[in-house]
Amino acid sequence: MSHFDIVVVGAGMVGASLTCGLVDAGFKVALVEAGQLDCTRDWPKNDVDPRVSALSLASQNLLTHLGAWPLIESMQRLQPYQAMQVWDGCGTGELEFTAAEQHLPYLGHILENRTITSALHQCLAHKNYTLFEQTKIVDMSPQDITPRRLSLAGGEQITADVVVGADGANSKIRQLAGLPTREWDYPHHALVTRVKVTQDHANTAWQRFTENGILAFLPLSSPDTDLQAHYCSIVWSQPQAAAQAMQALPEDEFCQALSAAFEGKLGPVLATDPRHVIALRQRHAKRYVQPGLVLVGDAAHTIHPLAGQGVNLGLLDVAALVLTLEQARHDG
Ligand SMILES: Cc1cc2nc3c(=O)[nH]c(=O)nc-3n(C[C@H](O)[C@H](O)[C@H](O)COP(=O)(O)OP(=O)(O)OC[C@H]3O[C@@H](n4cnc5c(N)ncnc54)[C@H](O)[C@@H]3O)c2cc1C
Repeated sequence: MSHFDIVVVGAGMVGASLTCGLVDAGFKVALVEAGQLDCTRDWPKNDVDPRVSALSLASQNLLTHLGAWPLIESMQRLQPYQAMQVWDGCGTGELEFTAAEQHLPYLGHILENRTITSALHQCLAHKNYTLFEQTKIVDMSPQDITPRRLSLAGGEQITADVVVGADGANSKIRQLAGLPTREWDYPHHALVTRVKVTQDHANTAWQRFTENGILAFLPLSSPDTDLQAHYCSIVWSQPQAAAQAMQALPEDEFCQALSAAFEGKLGPVLATDPRHVIALRQRHAKRYVQPGLVLVGDAAHTIHPLAGQGVNLGLLDVAALVLTLEQARHDG
């Protein structure tokens, strides 16, 4: 049975970042991923991941430190944003944040999630660690047995001084550890897609709050096949029935409804990619740690996307955990 200092479960943006950081810090690490690591660098320019993230400068700094940011830049699919415009649909208030007032070149970047995971998986391809992919954790020994023993779906068993659950919102590790959560459904489902708009998005992230929901337009880079066109990624959080009705509308009717909901800020919406609807549920583990076990990222805290902070929080977990484990090793 193989033994590791640390077993990370989940190779999403958070688990893959953590694995990079821990291997760089000299730990003997195994990574277990239910799917397959994906090192794709070139997607067709017009093929865009409907899942995007607004990444903060702190997240960019961490990804730079891990060696992933130059790979992300080389894909030429990231879009800086220099301002945020937030207003309420009743016309009673608005907020604006700009990079200029912070003396910064930009506030952050909008990126397709797959560019982040692919860059991290490319970094991992050059590192000395053990990967178990296309397999799942099916069982784990209780906290009073050390080291922790993990059973993989194929029957293999491995042990670890520390197990990290980076396995997302429905974390199996959290469940096997018996760590309780406080959770509830938000009264929203998020409709996400890319849309083509008439006017330049002005490198601005836009967000409109209404009684029925929240509509965000996040600026995207234009594919080089269509340099004059303007694209945004939208996240439209609204009650389930409304989100599903919007998903089912014919494209021209959807574009009209979306233009109206966005008060025509960027002119008429001209076209849309396939629309996806995601149920939104708050999940917060009451404790993130147990002897020999830690939860990070969405496994520890899954929040509403309105503030665009989910993965940014997860990446801060990564930075804090690497430092803590290095300190613990130093202290013996
Ligand atoms: C509509 C929407 C918009 C968002 N926008 C933003 C944004 O702008 N900015 C931002 O910061 N955040 C945003 N978020 C949140 C962000 O997407 C999440 O916080 C982030 O994806 C969580 O990453 P993770 O690595 O923790 O989990 P995941 O991405 O869920 O990765 C978990 C990994 O674990 C693997 N796994 C699962 N179970 C097992 C198992 N039993 N064994 C082995 N492997 C397993 C999975 O295959 C997966 O690879 C948004 C979320 C939504 C829904």
